[in-house]
Amino acid sequence: MADEVAPLDAEIRRLIKIAGPMPVRHYMAMCLTHAQHGYYMTRDPFGTEGDFTTSPEISQMFGELIGLWMASVWRRMGSPNSVRLIELGPGRGTMMLDAIRAARVMPGFRSALAVHLVETSPALQQRQRQTLAGLETPCAWHTTLAEVPEGPTIVVANEFFDAVPVNQAVKKGDGWHERVIEADANGNLHFGNAPEPIPNFVITVPKAVRDVPNGAIFEWRSNTMTVDLCRRIVNGGGAALMIDYGHVASGVGDTFQAVRKHGFANPLASPGLVDLTAHVDFQAITLDAETMGARVHGPIEQAEFLSRMGVDTRADALKAVVTPAKAAEIEAARLRLTAGGPTGMGTLFKVLALSHPKLESLPAFEKAGAEAPADPAAVPIA
Ligand code: SAH
Repeated sequence: MADEVAPLDAEIRRLIKIAGPMPVRHYMAMCLTHAQHGYYMTRDPFGTEGDFTTSPEISQMFGELIGLWMASVWRRMGSPNSVRLIELGPGRGTMMLDAIRAARVMPGFRSALAVHLVETSPALQQRQRQTLAGLETPCAWHTTLAEVPEGPTIVVANEFFDAVPVNQAVKKGDGWHERVIEADANGNLHFGNAPEPIPNFVITVPKAVRDVPNGAIFEWRSNTMTVDLCRRIVNGGGAALMIDYGHVASGVGDTFQAVRKHGFANPLASPGLVDLTAHVDFQAITLDAETMGARVHGPIEQAEFLSRMGVDTRADALKAVVTPAKAAEIEAARLRLTAGGPTGMGTLFKVLALSHPKLESLPAFEKAGAEAPADPAAVPIA
């Protein structure tokens, strides 16, 4: 791959020459969503043949349990006649397909819902249309959340927020300096720092992070998406579920990373040809959501979420009707989704929910003894 020309490389160097060093956020946005050469715009990056594998691609159980979660939330909303099911960044559309199938256990929910998929990539929109083609449920596509009509809403997003462009700043003696991408005389890209500190930046940096040593890196994102989601659910009713890797408390550290062919890569080496992400700061989302008047649930670890939603029961139901080899695959998928330790998906991924303030508890986020979510064993197998 070393001699593969990254089509965005020349464009980024040209922009740096004209406009000066490029903030990390701009670089990430260009690499992922540039109209012609953005990483997501032209390809399907998922699965063993691609660059990375997400939870819905590991097992149908993941999407099914999300479907039961949504059905259960709909009931707690008072079973409205119509509800918008919004998915942010649906990838191949697999999670929604599995979720809608699981929603058959609650026919009232199935007939109330209209699906809205928010996807910036034409290639992936196409892929999602193929995946969801057989559904009776109405599906509409949008390139931004702002295009989706308001009203009672349930939002889901798996591995979406990590792809939202991130800002970085480096602590120095005189304040925080934005981290930027520069080009050297040979045209090679490297990281640098803006010469002047960001004015009044202390307002954005959480208190716990202000007194850190020089050289520390702080990351933050625009809160536009969180604000829009909260406005929708506070005005129209409903809830949002976000599943992503990230930290529960705001902190410092460089988490800007590139992944290609299931391994880490240099984020500056092949712009547009590698996936770029950064960890999600769940505390920052929590604070924004509370400011907007939404109720916050969690975050809890993915393993805990899946276990409370009944992943073991679901795995057993699926294993009971297949060959031993297939059953072993289902068990391996269950273990992978719930694995502990520093690199296990079960602990690395966190689940955060936001809701209308009247929804005091949500499935999987309440104390033991509350109403159980819909029965995972009752979901049709396929
Ligand atoms: N949720 C899927 C895919 C995760 S990858 C899964 O779990 O398999 C991130 C997804 O978000 C991709 O579908 C990508 O094209 C989409 N995406 C990235 N940035 C976006 C943006 N700004 N607006 C809408 N979709 C975006």
